[in-house]
Amino acid sequence: MTMSQEQRMQGQPMIILGDDAQRMKDESAQGHNISAARAVAESVRSTLGPKGMDKMLVTSLGDIVVTNDGVTILDEMDIDNPTAEMVVEVAETQEEEAGDGTTTAVAIAGDLLKHAEDLLEQDLHPTAIIKGFTLASEQAREELDEIAVDIESDDDETLEQVAGTAMTGKGAEQYSDHLSELVVDAAQAVTVEADDGSTIVDLAFLKIETQTGDSPASSELLEGAVLDKDPVHEDMPTTVEDADTLLVDEPLELSEADADTQVSVTDPTQLESFIEQEEQELRDMVDQIADLGADVVLCQKGIDDMVQHYLAKEGILAVRRVKRSDMEFLREVLGAKVISDLSTATAEDLGTGTVDRDTDEELFYIEGTRDEAHGVTLLLRGSTDHVVDEIERGVNDALDVVGGALTSGQVLPGGGAPEIEVAGRLREFADSVSGRQQLAVEAYADALEVVPRVLAENAGYDSIDTLVDLRAAHSDGDEHAGINVHTGNIENTFEAGIVETPNAKQQALASASEAANLVLKIDDIISAGDLSTEGDDEDAGGPGGGMGGGMGGMGGGMGGMM
Ligand code: ADP
Ligand code: MG
Repeated sequence: MTMSQEQRMQGQPMIILGDDAQRMKDESAQGHNISAARAVAESVRSTLGPKGMDKMLVTSLGDIVVTNDGVTILDEMDIDNPTAEMVVEVAETQEEEAGDGTTTAVAIAGDLLKHAEDLLEQDLHPTAIIKGFTLASEQAREELDEIAVDIESDDDETLEQVAGTAMTGKGAEQYSDHLSELVVDAAQAVTVEADDGSTIVDLAFLKIETQTGDSPASSELLEGAVLDKDPVHEDMPTTVEDADTLLVDEPLELSEADADTQVSVTDPTQLESFIEQEEQELRDMVDQIADLGADVVLCQKGIDDMVQHYLAKEGILAVRRVKRSDMEFLREVLGAKVISDLSTATAEDLGTGTVDRDTDEELFYIEGTRDEAHGVTLLLRGSTDHVVDEIERGVNDALDVVGGALTSGQVLPGGGAPEIEVAGRLREFADSVSGRQQLAVEAYADALEVVPRVLAENAGYDSIDTLVDLRAAHSDGDEHAGINVHTGNIENTFEAGIVETPNAKQQALASASEAANLVLKIDDIISAGDLSTEGDDEDAGGPGGGMGGGMGGMGGGMGGMM
């Protein structure tokens, strides 16, 4: 038996490390990873809830982003520690799957790891912790299903509360009522009933446009699309009713081969005929467009000066360099096809709609006039780019959760109410769990309470008092009791209008426990480089020592901010 066979039989693969490679095993590896992950979680915790603080992020290019949005913060942070990356992935998964609840997911993941650290110290094996967390997470999601309350799809009041809750803290407080209304109208406008009776909210038919220079109060929901472009020629019409509209994604120019051709001419007439030939080609394009009956041409690429000139002469409005995403949306709005080859296009490929230019705003408003036309635009306004960007992030979150509420037909109370309720139920459930996994289930329940704890903390209230009062209210059977951070009181959060959705919350629990488990599963770190502490910052004092080559990488101008 060779050496490596022997080792493999003992479950120890032989690893051959290079000279510079470093290795960390078991507790030291776990401690190292847990500290890294917790440090990231703690960095976003202070933004949780309506009273959470904002972060100012300076990107590596020097751009400034001011936000309260968990996933935006983590995305901009430029983290290069692999375990810390896992926490960033929690936020990203949460953003993709639910659109809201990123800070919640990350905060719970961080607290799960904090409790795991204690359990490891009590000599609980990581496998037992992972099993306990998984059990607890499944149970917690079932409990959330039970706590959820049914709503009707036309219950605008509740839906607007869902929107408002998702948007709080995102810089549009004063305008929250107006924006919530817009969000609900927009989501309902793109809601369709599927054949099997289920509800589909198709956000692809909804476009968000932003404009600076005006108050968020003047944001509006429009049928159709908005196009921030100019006509290519000043002699073109700018407003066309019931316009037959051609969408083309090829340049209306001479093909590149033609443009680059070198011709040697022996006498001036040859040059003339060459130029004439090119001109003819361009004129043919315009004729083809006119023959199709187009009143408006929206082109994804460039339009030759000559084509512009002849189109203007034909009284056809043309716009060039329309973004691809706009083309796709316009296709829906106008009921058109996007064509790539003029010569094979037919009149059926055209869409119809009214194109109306607002000369002050320098925008086209485009509204489809066909029966099958669909698509709405949420035009968000704000005084500056920073304001508009943060409002857009809030509105995006709100659209996703309102979509989730419409799809599932269910809502949850907010303000930490579901976390406290589920924690209580999990503690009861823990009694039925055998062995040491029970401790992990209890730890999971404790970790959920990070949400009301931090909501209170961020609003300047005593977090211990809050927890005690909340637990008391829930054990008295008040399932909807949460903290209202505007009053500091323990209230029925449904009545206070703080409303969330079960899908976002379930996703937050699922991704938080998955991330914690992933970190716990690692018992061995083998690094090709140096594992010793580089940036031994204050958060990194876990049992594993420093954060390795990791948190030193929270660079990009973030130094000292957290
Ligand atoms: P996330 O990224 O997790 O969505 P947020 O900063 O949006 O983080 O905060 C969401 C949390 O804030 C939810 O638990 C929600 O119930 C809570 N919340 C929203 N409004 C209030 C309020 N008025 N009082 C207490 N909690 C609130
Ligand atoms: Mg949120």
